[in-house]
Amino acid sequence: MSNKYPFSEGTLGDKLAAGTGLSVHCFGCQRRAVLDVAELAKRFGRDQPCLHWDLLEIIYCSECRAAGRDDRNLQFTNHAVTPEQRKGWTACP
Ligand SMILES: [Zn+2]
Repeated sequence: MSNKYPFSEGTLGDKLAAGTGLSVHCFGCQRRAVLDVAELAKRFGRDQPCLHWDLLEIIYCSECRAAGRDDRNLQFTNHAVTPEQRKGWTACP
């Protein structure tokens, strides 16, 4: 699994400082989206860990949840920050 995380940032604050982004792919509905790291850090704190299992606890696919499918069949990918592309991805309250 470690090869999926080429970056060393372990928390949202680390990611903000490094300027890297985070995208998510849902296997349930095949949607892809870029997550807003700054917004996540605001909501969950800069100390929020951001490895796969940490993210699964705070992120779910709203479309699959609404459709009654597994809403956490997700894969997260670290990448360089790109222009805003996110649509409809929601973090748990
Ligand atoms: Zn989905």
